[in-house]
Amino acid sequence: MIENTFIETIKQQNTKVYLNEPMTKHTSFRIGGAADCYCEVKDVASLRKILSLCKENGVPYFILGLGSNLLVSDHGIEGIVIKLGGEFTELTLTEDNIVRCGAGATLARLCVFARNMSLGGLEFAWGIPGSVGGAVYMNAGAYDGEIKDTVISVDYMDGEGNIRRFQKDELDFSYRHSAFTDKDLIILNASFQLRPKPQEQITERMDELMERRKTKQPINHPSAGSVFKRPEGHYAAALIEECGLKGFAIGGAEVSPKHSGFIVNDRGASAEDVLKLISHIKQVVREEKNIDLCCEVKFIGRV
Ligand SMILES: Cc1cc2nc3c(=O)[nH]c(=O)nc-3n(C[C@H](O)[C@H](O)[C@H](O)COP(=O)(O)OP(=O)(O)OC[C@H]3O[C@@H](n4cnc5c(N)ncnc54)[C@H](O)[C@@H]3O)c2cc1C
Repeated sequence: MIENTFIETIKQQNTKVYLNEPMTKHTSFRIGGAADCYCEVKDVASLRKILSLCKENGVPYFILGLGSNLLVSDHGIEGIVIKLGGEFTELTLTEDNIVRCGAGATLARLCVFARNMSLGGLEFAWGIPGSVGGAVYMNAGAYDGEIKDTVISVDYMDGEGNIRRFQKDELDFSYRHSAFTDKDLIILNASFQLRPKPQEQITERMDELMERRKTKQPINHPSAGSVFKRPEGHYAAALIEECGLKGFAIGGAEVSPKHSGFIVNDRGASAEDVLKLISHIKQVVREEKNIDLCCEVKFIGRV
């Protein structure tokens, strides 16, 4: 239980605070119990203060992006879920075609901003439904592009509230991994080195990639995207389909009939349903293909 005095102090920061906030409202899967406390932080000073209050009071915190790669426990999340808003959503074009973007901004907004400035390099990201912080954390990628291709530096806050910068060579990017993976570091903003490109060409590529997504992916159904990472030399979706699991369901969770790499929640799935389905898929693929699938989607909250 979080103490009332702690909540009152958090409320005094430049922050919107919600108690027992259902995470169904903040995840693309539309699954999950409530966070003890959910707050939207607008500036660096408030973020630093909240982190130090959490440490002093032994309250765990979780940094939420747009919740598009998460499965939240049915039993909710202990402590505070922190969402970056306010100044963390700002975008600026600096010298030499570098766009600096707050971690709380959506990737979609960044893509449109770059396009409007006739700057290419982020077209691949059009349609990835996350925040810039989440995209850097995950090294999000699609259609032969990855965040690591354009990011040149990232400012972050460490657990003690210090602001630091990683240059490109310190970001330790690899497939769905970055220097931030499983670390107590908060991404504040990222700088992207883009290159001049005619706006029509950027729009054309973005439209083409969005069309491919619409054709291949169940983008209008609640999901967290591809559930599994791509195993070396294979596609997870193809393996799942070859095992006859397309459309297979447990409770309200179903392997998408449109794309076997996605689990969709069309019928009020619980996190438990999804976990059981994931476990079943892994078991069948191991037995039939001798391949271990690893989850790309992150499970968070009370076990
Ligand atoms: C329909 C659909 C299609 C998708 N397609 C793709 C795709 O093509 N390619 C792809 O890579 N992904 C895809 N995804 C998955 C997802 O969109 C990406 O992983 C995205 O980058 C997650 O960003 P987010 O802001 O939603 O992060 P969240 O899901 O909120 O969080 C993911 C992780 O990032 C951490 N995080 C978020 N912000 C910060 C921050 N500021 N500081 C520190 N840590 C932070 C969180 O703590 C968490 O550990 C898809 C998802 C859906 C639903």
